[in-house]
Amino acid sequence: MPDSSAAAAQRLQAVLTTLRATMDAQISTAPSVREEHSHGEAMNAARLPEAVIFAESTEDVSTVLRACHARHVPVVAFGAGTSVEGHVVPPEHAISLDLSRMTSLIAVNADDLDCRVQAGLTRQSLNAQIRETGLFFPVDPGGEATLGGMCATRASGTAAVRYNTMKENVLGLTVVLATGEIIRTGGRVRKSSTGYDLTSLFIGSEGTLGIITEVQLKLHGRPETLSAAVCQFENLHDAVQTAMEIIQCGIPINRVELMDAVQMQASIEYSKLEGYRPLTTLFFEFAGAPAAVQEQVSATEALVQANNGLGFAWAESAEDRSRLWKARHDAFWAAKALDPQARVISTDCIVPISRLATLIDGVYEDIKASGLRAPLLGHVGDGNFHTLIITEDTPEGHAQAWELDKKIVARALALEGSCSGEHGVGMGKLEFLETEHGAGALSVMRALKKTMDPHGILNPGKLLPQGPVYQG
Ligand SMILES: Cc1cc2nc3c(=O)[nH]c(=O)nc-3n(C[C@H](O)[C@H](O)[C@H](O)COP(=O)(O)OP(=O)(O)OC[C@H]3O[C@@H](n4cnc5c(N)ncnc54)[C@H](O)[C@@H]3O)c2cc1C
Repeated sequence: MPDSSAAAAQRLQAVLTTLRATMDAQISTAPSVREEHSHGEAMNAARLPEAVIFAESTEDVSTVLRACHARHVPVVAFGAGTSVEGHVVPPEHAISLDLSRMTSLIAVNADDLDCRVQAGLTRQSLNAQIRETGLFFPVDPGGEATLGGMCATRASGTAAVRYNTMKENVLGLTVVLATGEIIRTGGRVRKSSTGYDLTSLFIGSEGTLGIITEVQLKLHGRPETLSAAVCQFENLHDAVQTAMEIIQCGIPINRVELMDAVQMQASIEYSKLEGYRPLTTLFFEFAGAPAAVQEQVSATEALVQANNGLGFAWAESAEDRSRLWKARHDAFWAAKALDPQARVISTDCIVPISRLATLIDGVYEDIKASGLRAPLLGHVGDGNFHTLIITEDTPEGHAQAWELDKKIVARALALEGSCSGEHGVGMGKLEFLETEHGAGALSVMRALKKTMDPHGILNPGKLLPQGPVYQG
């Protein structure tokens, strides 16, 4: 039964009073801390949580959820706040539960190529800590995200074309359920055919089914040889065609990333990339034993030539390579720097690889018709790309950007694609879910949510649009 705002506020204060008895030093109501937890990146939505609680252990998370469940108080898990679809924006009278202090690397099993981490550890910090083992964790979203947040959004990045996404790189989890109960899912083995796959259920659940406190991750050996090259094209279509053919020919490329001419211009300025022209560009990385790398390079060069590429420029040293990939990861900030007063809204659609060129050709027409500046870039080896729509930070500007986003999503869905390849649903993509999944699948998802979070306290208003619940 809906209750008054005053009653909800009272319940929240009662929860804080209970929690202060044991966790007082971990609770903040400072305006600056609340502001930091009121929004993610890119999207314009924001609302202050009433309090921010910094968890330091799985038991802390359990204590908080038990209290919130008992009094029906909403809780939004917060990792690093780099998500871009309004995921971490709290509803009214809510607590933001920050996991960024849970940063332990619990165990590294180098012989089995796996490790266990607390959910607040970032992937950059994990990789720095395991460098000596010769292993690494490959999923690399651009932001300094936490591994728990990356699980919760089913994140991927530039290396997914070779190493896949979070879904394929997580072996198991520790999760605190809405009631405060602690469960473990999965384990350390590479495969198991027992029971429902609860690990996969929580990956991509955006903090709506449980709060992840530990993650068992697959690690990978650092390749013997790495080489990176850049190829520029006069024509966007030719570049996209090249990326598609690389995948269709089965070349086991490590990364293949696209930036169109507008994004390239922005990145040249922002990242001080010297020697490149503001033209559509493909960034390649090849990895493996030297002979295998040479084979991949020759096959890719032939495709580049056939599609009018302007030749390879090699990044020879490790320094040059990391400068290039840093520029790619900073593309969002480069687009933002084009107009610091503007808002940059990122779209994120994906289609089966054979349809990528059709989609991007259509999207370019939509961008032109909109009159907006919208650099285009993406993980084209996966069929996934973003347009970074630069718009006035006003209601009219947001509406204009939203209109363009809708057109792009409609095109992707018509080509049997998805409205989000990696960013997730949050609040920004709710409208498209029924078209993408169908009413039946959504009603089953709502039934799951109802079973696992009967009081609807976990990140309400995200991932699932309102509608009928499957009754059996
Ligand atoms: C410049 C830039 C580039 C980006 N590039 C990419 C990219 O290439 N690929 C990509 O996939 N994403 C990308 N992103 C988006 C973002 O980095 C990812 O969505 C990331 O996974 C979010 O992690 P986070 O720790 O910041 O999570 P948050 O933003 O804090 O939270 C995201 C969601 O997960 C929930 N959550 C957080 N922690 C937990 C937990 N422990 N348990 C349960 N739920 C939790 C939150 O409630 C929220 O719903 C980019 C963002 C930026 C700003």
